[in-house]
Amino acid sequence: MTKRTDKRNIKKEKIPRVAMPEQDPEKRNKNFNEVTLGYTEEDALREALRCLQCKNPECIGGCPVEIDIKGFIKLIQEKKFNEALEKIRERNSLPAICGRVCPQEDQCEKVCILGIKDDPVAIGRLERYAADRELKRKAQRLKECAWSEVTKQCTREKIAIIGSGPGGLTCGSELAKLGYRVTIFEALHEPGGVLVYGIPEFRLPKEIVKREIDYVKSLGVKIEVNMVMGKILTLDDLFSEGFKAVFISTGAGLPYFMGIPGENLNGVYSANEYLTRSNLMKAYKFPRCDTPIIRGDKVAVVGGGNVAMDSARVAKRLGAKHVYLIYRRSEEEMPARNEEIEHAREEGIEFKLLASPVEIIGKDGWVHKIMCIKMKLGEPDDSGRRRPVPLEGSEFNIEVDVVIMAIGQGPNPLLTSTIPLLEITRWGNIKADPATGKTNIEGVFAGGDIVTGAATVILAMGAGKNAATAIDEYVRTGIW
Ligand SMILES: Cc1cc2nc3c(=O)[nH]c(=O)nc-3n(C[C@H](O)[C@H](O)[C@H](O)COP(=O)(O)OP(=O)(O)OC[C@H]3O[C@@H](n4cnc5c(N)ncnc54)[C@H](O)[C@@H]3O)c2cc1C
Ligand code: SF4
Repeated sequence: MTKRTDKRNIKKEKIPRVAMPEQDPEKRNKNFNEVTLGYTEEDALREALRCLQCKNPECIGGCPVEIDIKGFIKLIQEKKFNEALEKIRERNSLPAICGRVCPQEDQCEKVCILGIKDDPVAIGRLERYAADRELKRKAQRLKECAWSEVTKQCTREKIAIIGSGPGGLTCGSELAKLGYRVTIFEALHEPGGVLVYGIPEFRLPKEIVKREIDYVKSLGVKIEVNMVMGKILTLDDLFSEGFKAVFISTGAGLPYFMGIPGENLNGVYSANEYLTRSNLMKAYKFPRCDTPIIRGDKVAVVGGGNVAMDSARVAKRLGAKHVYLIYRRSEEEMPARNEEIEHAREEGIEFKLLASPVEIIGKDGWVHKIMCIKMKLGEPDDSGRRRPVPLEGSEFNIEVDVVIMAIGQGPNPLLTSTIPLLEITRWGNIKADPATGKTNIEGVFAGGDIVTGAATVILAMGAGKNAATAIDEYVRTGIW
């Protein structure tokens, strides 16, 4: 019955999906300003009107933190923008971030009922619009918004969180909403995890991240930076200091290398180092900011995920004439978001597909060439993607002066190596119950990339949310 109603509604629907305004590719590949410019009010209203307000909406179940998508879009339709943002924040404390970087095409938008016959509602863009609108109207913010800049006073038990990425921030804000005294301990000098050190300014402006973190702080969450846990304080220290539970969300920040000859030459970076220099340490503003970065003329980036796309697009913006993206499978298998692949192509990144590096060749200690071998696709492997197979004798060289390895990251053992009783997998990820985040040690929870391996912002947030519910139950009942 409901389905029939939805199908009738689909027939009535005529408005095309509202396109996202963007900077021109030839201009944007020379600056670090945001690529996508965001909807205007008119765009947002028009897009919101496409939503069918389904009786049984699928979109909510497609969102890992179950935002009331239908509800917030209805409020936008009614021009109740602040209420729309409050509705989102009931389930998601970082909407301006998720609206920009979440892979909605694989989540809420993938199951949107309108998408059966038409383009799905642009849920992420509407989420971003609601959140950004508040920033633009900063002057009136205190008067008009449900939350205030005055930090809320929390009085319940103390909870410690290690790592201030999206997992830690979400767990912290959920617990603070319940009245717990939360302290997040962060190793770096700025909170945000990958949101500040990994994802570049032109995809996620750091001012946006800062503002979302200010919101988390306004809920009563305390953030202590420059706290390398495991070195400065141990898990036992935290329990001795009266913390009742600990949530570990230290991410997957340890870069992998290929193990091929030449990876120790000058001019070879891990994507992690390259992006951290550029984003967190603002190397792209050199010499105004004093972190140096090698600005190659010809740069090779190895990998096919979001990290590789980000590295390639940063290299282009730093002035490289040629940026080659070397990926061992075809474009179809690339794990990066379609939008990022498209943006990278538009900006002039040159894709070298079905190719894999076998050696980096140096001259006087510096990168000079990268030798690759051509690949063909064989049978699907464990990941379900077709396995790349080298074509013997097909080696070829590309002249480059910088190589950036973006082939994946694993968990940093710095903290886990100081907790010998903690169960970890053979790859170093913490073993935790996905529904609760519970580890094998009483009072210790974990979630996000440190458990799953490198994944997504929203999955880390979902894990933080689940853990917050479980921590609350554990602290209230004392039952493990
Ligand atoms: C370049 C790049 C681009 C990406 N793009 C996207 C994207 O477009 N969309 C998307 O959904 N996902 C993207 N991801 C993945 C996403 O960012 C991660 O899945 C997500 O940030 C994981 O969150 P987390 O909270 O588990 O960990 P992180 O964000 O990694 O945060 C972990 C934090 O813990 C801190 N920490 C580590 N060890 C310690 C310690 N011993 N003591 C104290 N603090 C510690 C770290 O400094 C860090 O701040 C991208 C990742 C990268 C690297
Ligand atoms: S966003 Fe899509 S699934 Fe959700 S209520 Fe609107 S049309 Fe239905």
